[in-house]
Amino acid sequence: MNISLKNKIRLNVFLLLIPFMLMIYFYYHGVIRTADEKMKMESQKIVNNISELYIEEYIYNTEKDFNYLFEDITINDFYNVFEYSDLISKWETYRKINDDAWYVYFATKYDRLYVVPRWIEPPGYEITERPWYINAYSNPFEISWTQPYEEAVTKSLVVTAARLYRDSKGDVIGIGAIDLTLENLSNMLDKINVGEGAEVFILDKNGEIIAHPQYSRVWTKLNNQNLIENIYKKDSGVFSVENGIYYAFNTIEKTGWKVVVKIPDKTLEGIIEPVRSEIMYLVVFAIMLFLIIQHIITNNIFYHFNNISYSLLNLKKGNYNLDMKGRKTKEIEDLYANFSDVIGKINSLNQETIIDPLTNLYNRRYLSRQLEDLKKNNEDYSILMLDIDDFKVANDKFGHNFGDFVLKKIGYMIYSNVRNEDTALRYGGEEFLVIFRGKDKEIIQKLSENIRENIERTIWPKDIKITVSGGLSFYDNKEDLIKHADELLYKSKTEGKNKIYTE
Ligand code: GH3
Ligand code: MG
Ligand code: MG
Repeated sequence: MNISLKNKIRLNVFLLLIPFMLMIYFYYHGVIRTADEKMKMESQKIVNNISELYIEEYIYNTEKDFNYLFEDITINDFYNVFEYSDLISKWETYRKINDDAWYVYFATKYDRLYVVPRWIEPPGYEITERPWYINAYSNPFEISWTQPYEEAVTKSLVVTAARLYRDSKGDVIGIGAIDLTLENLSNMLDKINVGEGAEVFILDKNGEIIAHPQYSRVWTKLNNQNLIENIYKKDSGVFSVENGIYYAFNTIEKTGWKVVVKIPDKTLEGIIEPVRSEIMYLVVFAIMLFLIIQHIITNNIFYHFNNISYSLLNLKKGNYNLDMKGRKTKEIEDLYANFSDVIGKINSLNQETIIDPLTNLYNRRYLSRQLEDLKKNNEDYSILMLDIDDFKVANDKFGHNFGDFVLKKIGYMIYSNVRNEDTALRYGGEEFLVIFRGKDKEIIQKLSENIRENIERTIWPKDIKITVSGGLSFYDNKEDLIKHADELLYKSKTEGKNKIYTE
């Protein structure tokens, strides 16, 4: 299939759009990447701040309270009457002030347990098996935090801060402990505004939610395995799963808790959306611009193409001067000049093939062409055939050059005695032919006689006499016109020469 030049140019211009579109594409992805990175950084910052300002602060305050509740504790406290102890009233006050404190208690080295509020030890209760007990012994020099567990009496879920206490000699007195429900932590998270749709929650070491703005979610296990894997892989980081929701997390060193911020991709969308619509406009604008450019380029090129066509058409008509309506360009002028040259050459070649070089009359090749034209245009004509009398004699006597001279002169005399519309030709060696337009016998006969008489009357060098004989035919049958003229010529020759027979 041949694709048109116009479409080819259009296609090429359109191909230019590709790098442009690629640029836009990369720009867009750059913007998204930057927004994504910015988003991740922001998320990490948010989670770090929350960890520091709220969670670590919570732990710090709790531990400060803890130290206060159990400070100056001696083994003697537990030999005296329980209800009247200053210590116990301190614990009770603390519980009143702090909703999170479920139980405050001390377990002596003799495995006796002093608890606020008072409780009844459930059957099968074994202090040494309790998580806080185990925890305190495995971290003997600081307050340690347990994982969430079911508290023995009320079956509430708690975490316990516990610590081993010793006397001045370094002997263990017992373990101080506070069970915490962490409700306050959830309430705190609920109050933190991390943006539309975003939320903060805290997980323990095992993926259990221990604080969440929706309190109903607390003490449930996070069931998204993908999330858990990502969060427990490292101490802190940002990642996005499921439709671009971002999770930033951080680990609280003291408790191993994971503080997690969940930011919906709406936030990222908020950053990207204006860029996206900007790019949409840009793309539409670019396509329109390219279409316009395409239009201008094709039109401009084809304007010149049409000019070339137009000027070549003129050239074909024989107009050798570059004459055109539109603007000329250097290329068109060059092209035109070259074409003129070529056509000029063709013309002169053409001319050479139809002109007899000796007499400058048309030759026999032109005769057939001319007769064809006349036939085509259905025009009337008559034929005069002339032959020089006894030319052989003159030729032999005075030489070939003289013969040529005579031929030239006679050729010219025939040419100048016919009308513009008639055609004089050299038919053969010393034979000439005239195509007279029309069939006006009187005029044409007169013209023919003129030729014969002029030649006869001509004074030639060396005093020789030159005459011609002729046959003039007005035959209707065009096919036989020349043959007929020839027959009449023959008749003139046989009947004394220097005459023109006609019929
Ligand atoms: P006729 O009256 O019967 O025509 O006698 P003629 O001598 O003219 O007879 P013919 O037609 O046989 O002779 C033609 C001569 O014309 C022969 C040739 O030498 C001469 N001739 C033909 N072409 C040329 C030419 O180009 N130059 C010269 N110088 N002579 C030519
Ligand atoms: Mg002859
Ligand atoms: Mg002759």
